Amino acid sequence: MNLDHALQQYFGFQSFRPNQREVIETLLAGQPTLAVLPTGLGKSLCYQLTAQLLPGVTIVISPLIALMQDQVEALQRRGFQNVTYLSSALSAAEVSARFDEIERGAHKLVYIAPERCDSPRFQRFVQTAEISLVVFDEAHCISQWGHDFRPHYRNLLTRLPELKRANFLALTATATPEVQNDIVSALSLPHIKRIIADFNRPNLYLESIAATTREEKETWLLKTLTEQSLGGSTIVYCSTRKETNLTFEFLQARGFAVERYHAGLNAETRTTAQRQFISDEVSIIVATVAFGMGIDKPDVRRVIHFNIPGTPENYYQEAGRAGRDGAAAICSLLYAQPDLRIQRFLIEQSAPPPQVIERLMQAFREAHPLSLAAGDLATATGLPELNINTALQFLYEQSWLAMGVEGKYVQAQPDAKRFNLDFRSLQERRQRTEERFQRMIEYAAQDKCRRQLILGYFGQHFAAPCEACDVCCAPKSASNIAQFQATEESDRVARIILQAADDFGGRIGRSLIADVLGGSKAKRLTERNLDRARCYGALSLHANERVRDWIDELIAQKLLRVTAEEYPRLLLTEAGIQAFGEPVLIALSGFVQRRVIASAAIPTPTGNVAIAPALHEKLREWRRQKASEAGMPPYIILHNTALDEIAARQPQTLEELKAVKGIGESKVESYGAEILALVQSLAEQSEAVSTTPAAPLELRLQIELWEQGGAEPNRQQLLEALHNHAAMERGELIVLLSAVKELPLQGAAVLLLQLLGETTDGNFLTALCNAIGGFQLVSAVPSMLALLDDARPGVRRAAVRALGRMRAHEALAMLERMAEIEASEYVKLAVQAAVLRITNR
Ligand code: ADP
Ligand code: MG
Repeated sequence: MNLDHALQQYFGFQSFRPNQREVIETLLAGQPTLAVLPTGLGKSLCYQLTAQLLPGVTIVISPLIALMQDQVEALQRRGFQNVTYLSSALSAAEVSARFDEIERGAHKLVYIAPERCDSPRFQRFVQTAEISLVVFDEAHCISQWGHDFRPHYRNLLTRLPELKRANFLALTATATPEVQNDIVSALSLPHIKRIIADFNRPNLYLESIAATTREEKETWLLKTLTEQSLGGSTIVYCSTRKETNLTFEFLQARGFAVERYHAGLNAETRTTAQRQFISDEVSIIVATVAFGMGIDKPDVRRVIHFNIPGTPENYYQEAGRAGRDGAAAICSLLYAQPDLRIQRFLIEQSAPPPQVIERLMQAFREAHPLSLAAGDLATATGLPELNINTALQFLYEQSWLAMGVEGKYVQAQPDAKRFNLDFRSLQERRQRTEERFQRMIEYAAQDKCRRQLILGYFGQHFAAPCEACDVCCAPKSASNIAQFQATEESDRVARIILQAADDFGGRIGRSLIADVLGGSKAKRLTERNLDRARCYGALSLHANERVRDWIDELIAQKLLRVTAEEYPRLLLTEAGIQAFGEPVLIALSGFVQRRVIASAAIPTPTGNVAIAPALHEKLREWRRQKASEAGMPPYIILHNTALDEIAARQPQTLEELKAVKGIGESKVESYGAEILALVQSLAEQSEAVSTTPAAPLELRLQIELWEQGGAEPNRQQLLEALHNHAAMERGELIVLLSAVKELPLQGAAVLLLQLLGETTDGNFLTALCNAIGGFQLVSAVPSMLALLDDARPGVRRAAVRALGRMRAHEALAMLERMAEIEASEYVKLAVQAAVLRITNR
């Protein structure tokens, strides 16, 4: 049989999706099959098409009633007349009419809910009908180790052994290898053919965003939804109805076209919400997990988990609703401590205490011989339904309860005097639930390729790095786009934090460390003697929230990490350890570039310009060496600021050294002599350096001629002269720079950046800005931005001009603000011009 042809004929589809053909072929060959295929891939088609090709009836058992109806209606819209479903949502008359049709042989495909299978009419039907295939949809619900176990579904075959005459297809989107094995054993089909799809969805960008409070998450949400429009639709999942309502109201109040969906709303409201979302009347829906079953909107561009879900299965299933059309989509998981508590509570709830079980048993004894459903019991006992469900499952497993009609339960052995319940299974279940949650936390909090983690959970090997997760790639999300600046001050602060994290060696968490650094007097510190830590109060001049933010930024930069625990501890990463030893400035947000080195570079004929950078380099090298001598983890010998000051002041005596900011008595004692020796040795060399001739007269003449309309100066010579800038008069350097502006010189870029970091001289800065603008040196944009609030109008104007020339889009917001507040008229003009240039107006 030509399957392509059949696909085209029955469904009008051009080609099979991955694995579909294989599943259909094995089924047609009469092989029992377990297919684990991701959500949205088109699992249903595997049996829908097969059903049309097999001689007898195909029975699809699905625990999701709403979904059955959707699927049947979708098939009917496609022109299939021979499909139907049986659910408790239908009236008795309707059910009976449908049975008539089925028995008449009018249907090839019959969907049925597990509890309907117990109806006498269905049992009679099963005994006589020719059933070719039985499909267990959402087969993970069969597994007692699955995240949505339904015992009644599991032992369906025990109740209906006749079904075993047919072939089987078990389908699920989520099954760990353990769950797969359990499904196989429940169906007692050891030789089942397993078809497991590649679960990787390369078009999904996976990210986890750490937050501490609801406000932080809201800020992130707002920022993300306003600044990062991806088009298409967005689903925001929340873990509870309350969270859903709050988030919905938050977005609605800010003018978003948004709907909400959860089980607490009436059916009509839910349907409307769903319809509006599907038809793009609203682009955002805030929902609990109740939303999305069977929703296969192709252009969901973003799935945001506002709260962490309880299991990776749930997470991947829900996140997987993004990007079904194969185009890029973003799956963001907001990860905040308070949410862990919500989930723990839910886990707690799902493990009913013995009193609850006792209370339910009593209710059943009283009701006997009537059967009861979870809902009845909830009303009767006032216990939470979630709790009741698990208790019922447990009592059913222990054979204390039996299945009555329509999914209701009834006491199994009302006459038994004593009944021993074995609570171990309950315990084991709980343990597994906790383990799954732990894996979920790890996914959110660990510093490992998220793709590798989630695929690994489902038993699929994936070699990191991937091409679309926040660990392997540049962050995509708004919260991570914060403006980080690497300045001397950011570096100093960052190193204090890293040092503190290292000092505590992962014993305490983020907020406690922030308190220690802030010098908090709280009891939780003093009780643990944390106020005696050497970093106590080291950042006391900064607001506590700032310090926390900085810690988060260091986490975002992967220099720190938090452990995946309920009370996560703060640890230094490998990269963090390395950053200690490296002379590269560490960036944080909220710092404006300050040229501290500049003070070290005031030009004097005695060669300070020469000595400062060289000494600086020497001192850093010395520190690196010291750090490595001190062994791992490295100990910060001196902060950068202190090194800078030493380079600037070039102290000659221990007294002078002590006056250097950031170097305490003890350090002078330990290293003073060494430092002085270093300074000394360089000062001697600098004599030689400073005698180096300035830019050759000849070159200056060349430039002068060129500026009067003559030939270009020799570029090579110009570059060489620039490289010797250290020994040059400031005025000369400015002349050279003006030439650079006109003659884009390969190789001058690094130099320009370096010079920019070394000077505070207004004229020199102006010349540099001009050169940078002319040279289109975009890597200097952050430095230009920093100069926008320089006190000197000339410098501001030069920076503005450079940004305008480079059409630096990132400057736009700042320039626009500046246009409003700038006092100097001629700077203002430059700002207006730059804005016009950048926006291309
Ligand atoms: P799953 O159950 O795996 O989550 P569904 O069976 O609901 O996914 O199918 C998702 C969507 O994909 C449906 O709209 C279905 O019509 C469509 N689909 C399935 N197979 C194909 C195919 N081969 N070509 C095009 N569309 C398909
Ligand atoms: Mg499905």
